[in-house]
Amino acid sequence: MIVEDAAARSVEEELAAEFDAVVIGAGVSGLYQLYKLRELGLKVRVFETGTGIGGTWYWNRYPGARFDSESYSYGYSFSQELLEEWNWDERFASQPETERYLNYVADKFDLRRDIQFRSRVAAAHYREETRRWDVTLEDGRRYSTRFLITAIGVLSAPTMPRIPGVETFRGQFCHTHYWPKEPVTFAGKHVAVIGTGATAIQAITEIAKTVGHLTVFQRTPNWAAPLHNDKIGEEEMRRIRASYPEIFARCNDTPGCFIHAPDPRATYEVTQEEREAFFEKLYAEPGFGIWQGNFRDILVDHQANALISDFVARKIRQRVKDPAVAEKLIPKNHGFGTRRVPLESGYYEVYNQPNVKLVDINETPIERITPTGIKTSGAEYEFDLIIYATGFDAITGSFDRIEIRGIDGVLLKQKWKDGPQTFLGILVEGFPNLLMVMGPHAGLGNFPRAAEYSVDWVTGLVRHAHDRGVTRVEATAAGVADWTEHVLATGEGLLMNEIDSWMTGVNRNVAGKQTRKIMRYSGGHPAFREHCDAVAADGYRKLALA
Ligand SMILES: Cc1cc2nc3c(=O)[nH]c(=O)nc-3n(C[C@H](O)[C@H](O)[C@H](O)COP(=O)(O)OP(=O)(O)OC[C@H]3O[C@@H](n4cnc5c(N)ncnc54)[C@H](O)[C@@H]3O)c2cc1C
Repeated sequence: MIVEDAAARSVEEELAAEFDAVVIGAGVSGLYQLYKLRELGLKVRVFETGTGIGGTWYWNRYPGARFDSESYSYGYSFSQELLEEWNWDERFASQPETERYLNYVADKFDLRRDIQFRSRVAAAHYREETRRWDVTLEDGRRYSTRFLITAIGVLSAPTMPRIPGVETFRGQFCHTHYWPKEPVTFAGKHVAVIGTGATAIQAITEIAKTVGHLTVFQRTPNWAAPLHNDKIGEEEMRRIRASYPEIFARCNDTPGCFIHAPDPRATYEVTQEEREAFFEKLYAEPGFGIWQGNFRDILVDHQANALISDFVARKIRQRVKDPAVAEKLIPKNHGFGTRRVPLESGYYEVYNQPNVKLVDINETPIERITPTGIKTSGAEYEFDLIIYATGFDAITGSFDRIEIRGIDGVLLKQKWKDGPQTFLGILVEGFPNLLMVMGPHAGLGNFPRAAEYSVDWVTGLVRHAHDRGVTRVEATAAGVADWTEHVLATGEGLLMNEIDSWMTGVNRNVAGKQTRKIMRYSGGHPAFREHCDAVAADGYRKLALA
């Protein structure tokens, strides 16, 4: 019998299912975590809600979905063979290409046999008497594991807007995260997009190419900058392959693990002409350079930030023909780069099309979704298709959706109600043997670079425990207090932390997420690694091991 995935196993086999480690999530992080734990010879199972490999790149199939990271800086670095074999088609790969890549990885390393799809983990309870976790799936199946490893993503818990009447709409509707696998056409249709974040900006640009009529409902405009995507030809791929060591070394050195590093100069150290020329250069270059490779002070100094914001605002005014629409598209409540910068490929020009309308819902709020469309305080619109590009309950959302209970039944969601408290973004006091790959208070950035490190660190700890017969690993209260204090300190002075966004844990569509919290480590990845390396080199003495 060919076992397609772990869900096809027999009932007898399942009942005996006791694992050394359970990994939740089969995205970039979970796949690599499985690979590494297998190297230790452990009995591992991955549980995944979806029916396929890829996490973000499995779910988000909306038109226009693609990287803002350079493809060749995003792929895994752990296997030379993989680096030799895989050719990237585009500088910034589209969702289908990345999904293909992650499936290729899963097949190459024979990962599927330990992955159980259609298996949402609903609850995980720690049992002190066995020093193990009881894991319960949504359908009631139960398993036991020594280590519970979360690889559940930072942008994987989608949120719908809190608008009455969503369920009454008689046309087609979907959230961008749950985009159908079957093709969706737009020609001749009246389409609404609610939201103007990174996802919406990609989707709107693509949909506008064929749509009958498009109406965009905007609450908060974002500062977007050009992506400048291109194909990667054979010769360029050869050059990239030859320079992988330098590319990964470069990513290791930069604060966000991107190939872009802040310019060492401050904004006011150069003349106005030099500054303008530098901004122009960055605007004309591919990728996140304008955000991650700009003057070193644009994200900490209000005046410096105002200059780059003014530069990008001028670009928007040049690109959008109707001055009133241009003004609506220019953010007024936050400066450039203080929220995650969406990269675009003709987004602003979409609003020059006669069949595209921008509705500012601050002026005319949406009152309800009706059976035929959307009613605002100013008008009633009819649609064939409504697209909710309303984002995610970021960073802690996917944790909140699992009933994770530690010692004495304490609920993790409750423990974190005033903000995450972790040790290195990996461990939580009171939740022994729970290890988080890319958990809250770890550093964000070019994701796989940081995730590979996180997985390697987690694997090192599991190996250490396994080799010494240690059956219980836990963060100490002092360790958590120190790390939390350090994370808060590194966030001080950052303009980003003065702004409501998913980066600061604010989501107006989620109850209890209206106040800003520090959700991520902002000291830069090189410093993050130094902290984690030091703990491992010291034999994990900062943890309670038993
Ligand atoms: C549209 C979009 C574009 C992005 N672009 C970039 C980019 O250009 N560069 C970049 O670095 N990052 C980007 N990101 C961030 C992206 O999430 C990461 O790059 C990366 O894919 C995260 O991998 P992961 O494995 O940690 O999490 P995910 O890919 O989110 O995978 C987590 C998996 O866990 C599963 N899961 C969650 N909860 C449960 C549960 N209770 N039970 C079972 N399974 C569960 C989910 O179904 C999901 O498949 C983007 C994100 C989005 C949404």
